[in-house]
Amino acid sequence: MPIPFSKKSRRNVVRQESDNGAAAKRSTRVRLRPRPDWHKRNFLTSVLIPSLFIKRSGDRAQPQFPKIRAGEICITWIGHASFLIQTHEVNILIDPNWAKWLKVIKRLKQPGFEIHHLPSIDFVLVTHAHFDHLDRRTLRHVAADQPIVVPIGVGNLVHDLGFHIVHELDYWQTVQLGPLKISLTPCHHWGARFLADLHRAFGGFVVAVDGRTIFHCGDSAYFPGFKEIGDRYKIDIALLPIGAYEPPTRRKFSS
Ligand SMILES: [Zn+2]
Repeated sequence: MPIPFSKKSRRNVVRQESDNGAAAKRSTRVRLRPRPDWHKRNFLTSVLIPSLFIKRSGDRAQPQFPKIRAGEICITWIGHASFLIQTHEVNILIDPNWAKWLKVIKRLKQPGFEIHHLPSIDFVLVTHAHFDHLDRRTLRHVAADQPIVVPIGVGNLVHDLGFHIVHELDYWQTVQLGPLKISLTPCHHWGARFLADLHRAFGGFVVAVDGRTIFHCGDSAYFPGFKEIGDRYKIDIALLPIGAYEPPTRRKFSS
């Protein structure tokens, strides 16, 4: 069992022991080389600048979370890739993000409710380091000395935010936290928050709790790994918050 350290210490980042010494890396990294016709789709003039003049849409409602009885699960899609999973005993947040701006990119859809309407959160899971999935400000708000689980190489982005302990998982590794068994699954994506930090892993999570198995795919294009995930786990509910923008080569399975 990992030993909890001071929340300010970088030593509260714990990597799981590898089961077989060499965990198979099955995620596939997308190539970021643009297609030859990339200049016809100018991100700055066709996406970024117009977005500055678009009003944010989406209603924020006061959530009415139900009373959850033993054996029941309640899942709330908050917006983008953020989900709240509630069981009789615990509340789990995946990829929470209440940011209005992702650096220079404006968020056009509001989260479905305001951050202060969250119930107390027992566990936080973050699928990868991209700004739309890992928002340090949101995580700092949510952090209340509970554990957080991230892929290998992402722990240093969250270790200082007020979490009790950071569990870094490699692909197919599992950590048991209270009533949860949390496993990291591969995906077809990439993990660099900036250009050069390619050491960061990226993935999805399988969460087994109360006899149910919930899968959050992270940020993934379709790839054969989905079949292996389906073979390894008996998934009851799959959360597939895949980007809805026009897919150039980066979203296409190509390797
Ligand atoms: Zn991403």
